[in-house]
Amino acid sequence: MKLFEVGEVVNHRVGDPQCPECAEGYPEPCPCGGLMHASETAEEDPDGNVVIVTLCDQCGRNEDQLAEMAS
Ligand SMILES: [Zn+2]
Ligand SMILES: [Zn+2]
Repeated sequence: MKLFEVGEVVNHRVGDPQCPECAEGYPEPCPCGGLMHASETAEEDPDGNVVIVTLCDQCGRNEDQLAEMAS
């Protein structure tokens, strides 16, 4: 099992849909066929939600980049 780093969390498991290091609800399928992993950060957004950082284990993009490409 290959590990990769998302934000501060280094133990995400490439290709594992049950990745134990992911935030709740992740990983999600990425349009490239990979998995979008997510790490919680210590920060909160103005609404009080924990900020997460996302990263695909195959194409290396995050959800913000994908949303930009779709618009
Ligand atoms: Zn993960
Ligand atoms: Zn991807």
